[in-house]
Amino acid sequence: MIIRRASLVASEVCRDLTFNTTSRPACPVSVVRVRDPEDKEDVMRHVKEAIENIGGMGSIVKNGDIVLIKPNFAGPRPSNTGTTTNLAMIKEVTNEVRDFGGKPILGEYPAARDHDPDIVFKVLGIREFAKKAGIEFLDLEKTERVTVEVPKGVLFKKLKLPRIVAESDVLISLPKMKTHTFTKVSLGMKNLMGIIPMVERTRTHVYDLDQGIVDINKVVKQDLILVDGTVAMEGNGPFEGDPVKLGVLVAGKDVVTVDTVCCQIMGIDPETVKHLKLAFEQIGRPEIEVIGEMTGIRKSFTIPDPLRKGRNTILFLADHTSTKILGKPVSILPYSVRLLGRLPEVDVKKCTRCGLCLDLCPVKAIAMESVAKINYAKCVRCMCQLCVESCPANAIKKKSRLRLSQLFASPLITSLLS
Ligand code: SF4
Ligand code: SF4
Repeated sequence: MIIRRASLVASEVCRDLTFNTTSRPACPVSVVRVRDPEDKEDVMRHVKEAIENIGGMGSIVKNGDIVLIKPNFAGPRPSNTGTTTNLAMIKEVTNEVRDFGGKPILGEYPAARDHDPDIVFKVLGIREFAKKAGIEFLDLEKTERVTVEVPKGVLFKKLKLPRIVAESDVLISLPKMKTHTFTKVSLGMKNLMGIIPMVERTRTHVYDLDQGIVDINKVVKQDLILVDGTVAMEGNGPFEGDPVKLGVLVAGKDVVTVDTVCCQIMGIDPETVKHLKLAFEQIGRPEIEVIGEMTGIRKSFTIPDPLRKGRNTILFLADHTSTKILGKPVSILPYSVRLLGRLPEVDVKKCTRCGLCLDLCPVKAIAMESVAKINYAKCVRCMCQLCVESCPANAIKKKSRLRLSQLFASPLITSLLS
């Protein structure tokens, strides 16, 4: 078996580690403004510009290369909610990879514990998107894995990577710019959590997520990192935060550098992000050369509520323990009985019965009665613009409080009562 990428990566990373805490050569980071995140042509044009600023796709992909593209499809919420990668970015990256003779493959596995991955892919329309674009799509949790050693690993000495990660020639990472309840930010380094097995992800959240992120980045090199800040997320990310229409793309070939610049854009001191601080110490502190305009972009992102971290730690601990004892996670339970998470709710006084939401809901969870009525047993809380934001009468709102009617409509309770 030839593990082209893993063996290549190990030697490159070891070489990098010899720099340790001393400064490394300046790595360019391209910062580009996007006028309208909803305008696909505009997004694609600026993706091209962002990559050209750092040497172009020809400096990354050569003829015959297998190129794995790793987006962030964290949950069933489209790009304009700040949760997932803009599909227009993936389209342009795919086009460029092909222009230089590479074979693009899209690979991801969602992280949201309360959502079935197939629902996530369905709501986001990923399989249809991949088919239309002629790209192979891989659910990374279901692919074969190979074990690789982590050079100078602290939390991980070995990792089970999807074979495609180990064997591809190039890895292109398309993370979303978000705040994160556990790690303060979720950017390029954090995007690699999506490639390790779910059981390891849960364990890492309980033990030391930041060190785990650094260890993964020691063994897996991302050749191009293009961060989607078209619509970013602040507050209680990565799922329950608020969208920030930022209109920014950040591209580079050194993930620590790219994440540092993103933090500066988000108004967050990189030294206060634990995994970045660990990366400075264990991988090296980058010299930054920004290509593009930073003035006017910087914003002060709302950081996550510390109480939310406490709540999520309990859920991960419960999953970790139940997986050990029962072989499966249990933290989905409070979501399935609607104790946690935000739900859409129709304002009966505002609904004009136009019927738009019935057609737009990806899982057909809305029916027309005297007004539009949401079936909470079916709703997957995609919280997309389709339902909440697209109602012409502004009649659908996000509600986080548990309501008895919603509790009794939950799948668990209805099955117990029937
Ligand atoms: S889109 Fe809004 S106004 Fe139209 S049926 Fe749905 S809730 Fe009512
Ligand atoms: S009802 Fe709204 S939030 Fe629920 S699945 Fe349908 S579109 Fe998404």
